[in-house]
Amino acid sequence: MTVSSETSYLVAVIGAGPAGLYAAQYLARKGVNVVLFNRDIKPGGLAEYGIFPDKLKMRTGLLAQFKRILAMPSIRYQGNVTIGQAGDIQLDQLRSAGFQALMITTGAQQKNWLGLPGEDLAGVYHANDIVFHYNRLPQYVDLQLDFGQNVAVIGVGNVMLDIVNYLKSEQHPCVVTAYGRRGPSQVKFDTQTLEPVAGCLDLPAIEAAVKSADLIEAGVGGDVDGFYQLLADARTRSTVCDTGLTFRMAFLRSPRRLIGDDRGRVRAISFELNELVSEGGQVVARGTGQMETVAADTVIFSIGSQVEPDFGLPVADGNYVTSPQPRFPVDGISYEVYNPDLCARCEDIFVSGWARKASEGIVGLARKDAERGARAVLSYLETLEPVSLGTIQSALDRLPDAGKRVVDAADLEILWTAEAEQAAELGLPAFKFKTNAEMLGVIEKGLTT
Ligand SMILES: Cc1cc2nc3c(=O)[nH]c(=O)nc-3n(C[C@H](O)[C@H](O)[C@H](O)COP(=O)(O)OP(=O)(O)OC[C@H]3O[C@@H](n4cnc5c(N)ncnc54)[C@H](O)[C@@H]3O)c2cc1C
Repeated sequence: MTVSSETSYLVAVIGAGPAGLYAAQYLARKGVNVVLFNRDIKPGGLAEYGIFPDKLKMRTGLLAQFKRILAMPSIRYQGNVTIGQAGDIQLDQLRSAGFQALMITTGAQQKNWLGLPGEDLAGVYHANDIVFHYNRLPQYVDLQLDFGQNVAVIGVGNVMLDIVNYLKSEQHPCVVTAYGRRGPSQVKFDTQTLEPVAGCLDLPAIEAAVKSADLIEAGVGGDVDGFYQLLADARTRSTVCDTGLTFRMAFLRSPRRLIGDDRGRVRAISFELNELVSEGGQVVARGTGQMETVAADTVIFSIGSQVEPDFGLPVADGNYVTSPQPRFPVDGISYEVYNPDLCARCEDIFVSGWARKASEGIVGLARKDAERGARAVLSYLETLEPVSLGTIQSALDRLPDAGKRVVDAADLEILWTAEAEQAAELGLPAFKFKTNAEMLGVIEKGLTT
């Protein structure tokens, strides 16, 4: 890579979640100048607003790493700025300002719904609403949540377990049933995330659910022993469940309709029962036409997210489309955005993390993906001439005014210090200000004192 003390390359990384931060770090270590644009005031993405609050050690460790990344001299943080078609700054404006490549790491911002009748009933939520509420993402802090006694969660992944853990930590007495469209062998959660709620498992109910799926599972080589081992491992390290929460699971069921009561609140779900078939090496659920209606006064969809469709890039299957024939594949993966209508690569636009593959994997995986994506960007930059240094500020000066207070790394230091002081004063393990206005107020106050 041809960088010198006078010249370098200039890249915009859009989205400062784990993928954006690690991509920026990788590029900066190779001598590239990076501006990291982020919609939220604070960096971290789902590491700040997704990971369960009691995973304090993990959150603190990640924050320490993120702070080190933002302190790198060739990385400039620009928080509270939304990029994209409907945002404060458009992709073309970044190009015109002199950014030589754009790395999109905006995550998966659009909630997945199934489009079922009754999804608009009271008592129906998307898991993200709840996660963002308890993690105090500003727009969600004041969300009114009204959980009943009979909660159905659609989905059997780690986020479903975080929701059960939240209901437990809120001491909300209820029966929670998680519904999977496939069998017990295909659950998507891990032992560690199950641990905090494993003591609440209603084992007889789960055994009955597994038994009813047993024959169908056996037909596709399912491994229910592995499922039982997962539960047993989590239970050896779990604590007693004394909050009145009972946790059940049910399998081979796809919701088809939510049924409301005369006050407009959900009261039941109509499921179609599934069978399992092997297709192209995958176990897939196929509806049998047989229906079953079960009571539920709260329904939470925990079925992942997809990328923001209004960002201005082509979307297919919930992800930004990447080139089928990349110029710079890394480990066989394409990081290059592609426009299928024009059959054209968007030469200077790259994508990684959950923006490339929505809702896939944990922070470690997002990091690996971001670093591979950054390698693709580096290969592309090598085809270009470096620009003269000092261009970060001049490029920022050429951008249109975002029309709001842009937050930089020094502002973040003020904010983090104020949060730590508040936490100490209130005797809390962590503290977050409630709104963007409050955060900006704290920053302004810190600058004048
Ligand atoms: C509920 C939940 C719990 C999880 N728990 C764990 C866990 O315990 N351990 C673990 O390792 N992983 C966990 N994960 C997974 C982990 O959070 C993800 O792997 C990781 O955050 C994905 O990183 P990302 O940077 O691709 O996306 P994100 O984290 O979503 O970051 C995207 C960033 O882009 C910004 N952005 C979005 N749109 C724009 C725009 N238009 N312009 C500018 N900026 C924009 C956002 O503000 C955000 O900062 C969890 C995920 C969820 C949903």
